[in-house]
Amino acid sequence: MLANIKKIIKVLNKNEYSTEKEVIKPYCVDWRGDYKGTSSLIVHPSTVEKISKIVKICNFTRTPIIPQGGNTGLVGGSVPRRNKGEIILNLGKLDKIRKINLTDKTITVESGCILENVKKELSKFNMVFPLSLGSKGSCQIGGNIATNAGGVNVIKYGSLRSNILGLEVVSSDGKVFSELNDIKKNNTGLDLKQLFIGSEGILGIITAATIRIFDKPQERIVLWVGIRNFKETLKLYERITAMFQDQITSFELMNKKSISIIKQNEFNFKIANNKIFCLIEISNFQKIDDFGDFVINKLSVLDTEKMEIIVSKSEYENQVIWNLRESIPVEERKIGSIIKHDVSIPLENMENFIKTTELEIKQFDRMSEIINFGHLGDNNLHYNVVINNPQKIKSSSTPKIINNIIFNNVMKNKGSISAEHGIGQLRKKELFEFKGKASIKAMKSIKKIFDPRNIFNPGKVI
Ligand code: FAD
Repeated sequence: MLANIKKIIKVLNKNEYSTEKEVIKPYCVDWRGDYKGTSSLIVHPSTVEKISKIVKICNFTRTPIIPQGGNTGLVGGSVPRRNKGEIILNLGKLDKIRKINLTDKTITVESGCILENVKKELSKFNMVFPLSLGSKGSCQIGGNIATNAGGVNVIKYGSLRSNILGLEVVSSDGKVFSELNDIKKNNTGLDLKQLFIGSEGILGIITAATIRIFDKPQERIVLWVGIRNFKETLKLYERITAMFQDQITSFELMNKKSISIIKQNEFNFKIANNKIFCLIEISNFQKIDDFGDFVINKLSVLDTEKMEIIVSKSEYENQVIWNLRESIPVEERKIGSIIKHDVSIPLENMENFIKTTELEIKQFDRMSEIINFGHLGDNNLHYNVVINNPQKIKSSSTPKIINNIIFNNVMKNKGSISAEHGIGQLRKKELFEFKGKASIKAMKSIKKIFDPRNIFNPGKVI
């Protein structure tokens, strides 16, 4: 056994690490199965003190560390590369809720807490956590912060970044930088926590955070709307957001192809006539009696002839509709040849982006199909291309050509090449291409300050 590994495991109890190949293997593969690395040590420290000691040893011995939460990331950021001597630091055992402050409406949680568990705990106090995503049963708060996760509620609560009040981080020399504030105003020099939010594990280990929480709505209603084209979708978005304003907690979009891969259709909604489907969640924050009738009355002013609208009648039906949306990435995972993207586009340019990009992709490959779904209210589209042509599947240049078409159109339409999934290993090349030299140079300088020996997640992002 290598000397550095011997030193690290001395810090830990027996149940906090493994050097066994078969135990480590599943932690070396990302959720999509696209990135498969190797490691000879995984650690699951249960205290910040232990993490601090491990990081100190790694810094001294120049041992690279891969911080890992629930390993649900979609850009290959949470897994080691092959044969690079990287160890995995999995945060799963650092999972205490340290404090719920109902007066200031904040929660202080350790980074290994699973998102769904935090949400359940808050529900007991009639409060909600301002983040929800399909991977909530596995992803961890630390991973959510390190990726600045988006999800389905950004339209209501803003990004996770905007709700984080303080962080606790272990830096490369093992020192613990702690600013777990319950306060909303804090102008004391540079706001360093912002650098760690969305840093994808390249600057330090996030060990805890204080985050704003919100009053739980009385109830929610979910609308399922089938629409003929994107122009009508945008009109619907403008009308509904004007009518319901901050009662809207989600506004999701799915195209016809993304619906066709879903297995269940309990509502028997029509697919044939519609090109686009929206899931809109409206929540009762103003304590309105007969909220269902209130929503239906308001909807009556819409030009419903052009749409097929289904309004949920119970929490069970809410869940059924949400399951449709959440099963898309799961079903999509089963499709063999698919090239995936997570882009954001200003709403005013989205129709142009969808039309032009599809046209150019079809010119390259007539047989391809486009799955797009995402968080319309946040400008976010998951734009995925299914390659059906066996010739194109075989050709190694296909992904490059598709990526070029998509990213060039993203740039022309003033969007972003990564809306919420981040950079990891998947989008490193594109980051260099599209971010601009000055930004990359600044990012590299910041990385050098926080991690001069490049021990945190090397080979990712920059
Ligand atoms: P991991 O995957 O383990 O890690 C992600 C990155 O963060 C890695 O670079 C890792 O090194 C770093 N990291 C993890 N923990 C720490 C820590 N404590 N300190 C420092 N660095 C750390 N994402 C969205 O934004 N919106 C969605 O709607 C969404 N939906 C999804 C649906 C499904 C079905 C799946 C599988 C994924 C989805 N994702 C979504 C992507 C993913 O779930 C999120 O990125 C999530 O925030 C990752 O959390 P995690 O704990 O799994 O992190």
